[in-house]
Amino acid sequence: MGFALCCFLPAVTEYSTHPKLLQDPKSVVKDAKTVILLLMPYRPARAEDYCEAVISNYYPVSHEAYKRAKVLSGLLLRERFSAVSNVQLPLKKLLLDFGIGDMGLNSLIAIPKLGSAFHVQAIVTNAQFEYTHVAQKGIPSAQRCKNCLKCISACPTGAIRGDFSIEVQKCLRAVSETDPIPEAYEVLLGNRLLGCDLCQSVCPANALLTQAEPFSYPLKRLLRGDIEELRQTIGPNLARTRRMQKKAAVLTANLKRYDLKDELIALCRTDDEGVARAAKRALKRLEESECK
Ligand code: SF4
Ligand code: SF4
Repeated sequence: MGFALCCFLPAVTEYSTHPKLLQDPKSVVKDAKTVILLLMPYRPARAEDYCEAVISNYYPVSHEAYKRAKVLSGLLLRERFSAVSNVQLPLKKLLLDFGIGDMGLNSLIAIPKLGSAFHVQAIVTNAQFEYTHVAQKGIPSAQRCKNCLKCISACPTGAIRGDFSIEVQKCLRAVSETDPIPEAYEVLLGNRLLGCDLCQSVCPANALLTQAEPFSYPLKRLLRGDIEELRQTIGPNLARTRRMQKKAAVLTANLKRYDLKDELIALCRTDDEGVARAAKRALKRLEESECK
C-alpha cells in the first residue's frame, strides 16, 4: 500500500509521556494489543527557485498515508477487531524506544534507507500480531551528527538549538501551519505555503534519496480561492480557502508578483476581515517594493 516499513509493537500504556497531548493506546482501544506504525517515504526538496506557492512533499504523502491507514484499519474492523487509525501517539519516542531509528540534531528521527523523510501513521488494535521490534535499553544517539552540523547552518531562522531539539515557534514548518502568519516571519517564509525541507535536504542521512521537485500550486488560483485540487492533494484540514488566501497574499508580496496585483486588490474588498487585512498588508508591501 505504499508503506516502506510496517512495525508491529506491543500496546503498553508507558508510551503516554505527555498525557495532555498524546493518547495512551489503551484509552483508544480498551483491550489494545498492538500498535502498528506505518511509514510512508517522501523526498525532501529545496524550494528556492520557484515563483509559485511551494508545498513540502511531506504534506501530500501524509494525506495519502492517512487515507491508506484508514483503509487498513477498516480491514481489521471487517474482521471484527477493534482498530483506530490516525492515533496521536508519541511517535518519535516509539521509534527511539524500539530502536527503529535515531534522532538527529534537527530533532527528526532517521531510519536506515529511509533517512528522515517519512511520515508515520499509527493504528491501535486489539488484534494480536507477532511483534517486529522489542523495546531497547537506552536511547540511540546519532553518531552521524558529530562534526556535521549542516542542518544548523542551513536553518534560515536559527530554530535548531544544537541539543537535539528545536524552537518550534521559530521553525518555518510550524510557522507555515499557523494562521495568521506572524508578521516577523512573513519574509522568511519566501515561497513556502506549507513546510520547510531545508534541514532535511542537507542532511547526510538523506543522501541516498534522489532529489525531488517540490509540489507547487499557482498563486493566482490560491488568491482566487480555487483550491479544490489542493484540497484533494493535502486534505481539507490544511487546505481551507480563507487560510490559503491569507498565506497566498503573503507569498505574493514575498515573490514580488506584481502581475497578481489585481487579485490582491479584489481580495482587499472581500467580506472576510482576516483575508482583507492580509491582502491589504501584502498589497502595501508589494507597492513599496515596486517603488524601490
Ligand atoms: S544535518 Fe548533520 S547534524 Fe543535522 S541531523 Fe543531519 S547528520 Fe545530524
Ligand atoms: S524545517 Fe526549516 S525552519 Fe524548521 S528547523 Fe528545519 S530548516 Fe529550520
